[in-house]
Amino acid sequence: MHYPINEIFQTIQGEGYYTGTPSIFIRLQGCPVHCHWCDTKYTWVCSDKENVSIKEVINKNQVSKKWSYLTINDILETLKKWTAKHVVISGGEPCLYNLLYITKILEKKGYQCQIETSGIKNIICSLNTWVTLSPKKNIRPLNESIIRSNEIKFPILKKEDLLYVYDILSNIKDKKKRIIYLQPISQNKKALNICMNICMKKNWKLSVQLHKYINIQ
Ligand code: SF4
Repeated sequence: MHYPINEIFQTIQGEGYYTGTPSIFIRLQGCPVHCHWCDTKYTWVCSDKENVSIKEVINKNQVSKKWSYLTINDILETLKKWTAKHVVISGGEPCLYNLLYITKILEKKGYQCQIETSGIKNIICSLNTWVTLSPKKNIRPLNESIIRSNEIKFPILKKEDLLYVYDILSNIKDKKKRIIYLQPISQNKKALNICMNICMKKNWKLSVQLHKYINIQ
């Protein structure tokens, strides 16, 4: 089994529940959602023209549209270079792909897995994988994705974005404990104030994209 991978690197998780955790990011190629403020636009399309060698992807030192298919063995071999035991499978939209096999194997090798998804596709992964759902206004997440999520992180730019948050949350009928985060888009000051005010009112959490503030990948 192989996965189209845009980049793989160790860093500090900057968002949501695992903020501050040393993490290895596996960024999969492909995303049909196309948010206008997306900061990984280079992952949107799996173009044959950009399909390069595994070595080129593993050794990337700047972002690009280049990607390569890596097998689980290629991935495990690459992970050996790093110390982190937390793996974030991100994108693009990682749930375009069946992630059951990779998450199970990684867990067997002692890694905790996390998936970051917009929720537009079924989330197929191990039971222990931590699922971060980040719904986007342009495409509603599937109900199954909402139910599977462990945390829901809403990107917020303006007050009207909260209507979408309330709409999604009011339709959740199960009793599962989920952590709710508001995350200002692109470190926008006004958005930060909106998020802080609502988090305090609702007792939700604030996610500030720590990596952007400390200037790491
Ligand atoms: S869902 Fe994520 S990767 Fe896809 S366009 Fe939106 S922000 Fe970018």
